[in-house]
Amino acid sequence: MAKMRSAVMLAPREIELTEVDRPEVDADSVIIKVEGIGVCGSNLHWWRGAERATGLWPFPISGAGGHEYGGTVVEVGKNIRKLKVGDRVAVDQFHSTSCGQCVYCSSGAFNVCTGRGGFVTPGFVEYIKSAEKGLHVLPDSIQTHEAAIIEPAATPISALRRVGLRGGERVVVIGAGVVGLAAAGVAKALGAGKVVVVAKYDAQEKFAYQFGADAVVRSTASDAVEQILSHVDGGADIVVETVGGMAPTMDMACAIVRPRGTVIPLGLWDEPVKIDSWNAVFKEITFTFALAYGQVGLRTDYEFAIELMATRKVPLQDLITHQVPLANIREAFELADDKTRGAIKVVVRP
Ligand SMILES: [Zn+2]
Ligand SMILES: [Zn+2]
Repeated sequence: MAKMRSAVMLAPREIELTEVDRPEVDADSVIIKVEGIGVCGSNLHWWRGAERATGLWPFPISGAGGHEYGGTVVEVGKNIRKLKVGDRVAVDQFHSTSCGQCVYCSSGAFNVCTGRGGFVTPGFVEYIKSAEKGLHVLPDSIQTHEAAIIEPAATPISALRRVGLRGGERVVVIGAGVVGLAAAGVAKALGAGKVVVVAKYDAQEKFAYQFGADAVVRSTASDAVEQILSHVDGGADIVVETVGGMAPTMDMACAIVRPRGTVIPLGLWDEPVKIDSWNAVFKEITFTFALAYGQVGLRTDYEFAIELMATRKVPLQDLITHQVPLANIREAFELADDKTRGAIKVVVRP
């Protein structure tokens, strides 16, 4: 059997390359040669040894959790009708691994499919095997490796479409990594009246303005909440939280949202998060969580993301600040983990 290189995370901050079997095509699948894989914020929970993360998915983690792919189709099974060898694609794994039969799949919510079974991502590898559904052919204006940025951006896109952002809203985005910056850009593209981004690092502040922020507040300021409220008098209509980890950002979100406003928590916390129910009740806050992306109306969030990117209405590809060869996977994780070095998205190139 042909072999390929694959990363394996052995323990926190320990990652190396190993050889695994290369996937083989069958009648209903295609093989994709991967050209870009993003290092996701979720991968860093394992890298840092966060207890909850490592309990959910114990070491050694084969593939090291990579799941943000752009690649080229190199083999197609005999039942494949639409895709052909040479097609350059973005990979929506929530769609491609969904059952297509359950009530959620039938309504476009394939991300919460109940017929999927386990969700296993191949990780940082050279080749992946996929069903045809969930693969989106890229337009000429998007380079193959750039498609890796679509996966993390599709989550805030999905959440903002689900809460029915319809124009004029005042949106505060907490956090200015890929998810936060994509949220800011998309909120603006969907017609938000004002977007305020809460950023920690210099590089993030610069990007926030490029992605349409009307104001940026530094999270390190002792009066950050007051500063945010000075931009959205009476509170924000929508708060998108994108930090998680150990940060008290849910407190901040609940403090700055207006009565009957919406909080979209997109971060993952390592401990259960406490919410001040008195505040939440008196304000009648709506919380909308989001597991990745799906479909709103006739179009999937991936399709929407690709269009925003292709037209540069939201230039998500600009968020790829670093490209690192697969051979240097450790460096890729170190760069992504140390935000003082200016990384927004690190893409690994097999
Ligand atoms: Zn991700
Ligand atoms: Zn299903």
